Amino acid sequence: MLCPVCNKEMLKQDFGGVVVDLCTNGCKGIWFDWMELCKLDEQNEGLANAMKEALNSPRVNDENRGKINCPHCRLPMHTHKYESAKEVNVDECYNCGGFFIDSGELRIIRDNFMGEEDRDAYRKKLLDSLPDYKAGQSDIEKQKLRTEAISRFTKFLRLSYYIKGR
Ligand SMILES: [Zn+2]
Ligand SMILES: [Zn+2]
Repeated sequence: MLCPVCNKEMLKQDFGGVVVDLCTNGCKGIWFDWMELCKLDEQNEGLANAMKEALNSPRVNDENRGKINCPHCRLPMHTHKYESAKEVNVDECYNCGGFFIDSGELRIIRDNFMGEEDRDAYRKKLLDSLPDYKAGQSDIEKQKLRTEAISRFTKFLRLSYYIKGR
């Protein structure tokens, strides 16, 4: 799969059962597949380590880069852009449920770990921004899966995910 930002081949890496695509040779962005996100339940140390590595990468791509297309579906992704330091800007594909995070955004995760309340607010914002696509709006099953995927995704942004016993 090619990186939606820099077009370099992304590398699949298995982190304890959760497979994530990393733009290792380019912008260091990370792609989360819908199905993989749903496995992102319990704390995953392997993934946490990979994140730490990615966190050391500075933002490579332009912060104001334009819209990107889903590397799977080729459809334009929806950018969730936020002002708050704690809220990670993320691109979401309403068609396949994938998420793309820029390397620079990962720094934000490191510097601004979310508390339970932050996470709830952030999750709500993501959910409330309705799909651009008619198919996404009418398909209730898809909406349910989307809710689930967003839930997992935001769970991963919490400190407790990285540190045992919290
Ligand atoms: Zn890239
Ligand atoms: Zn897609």
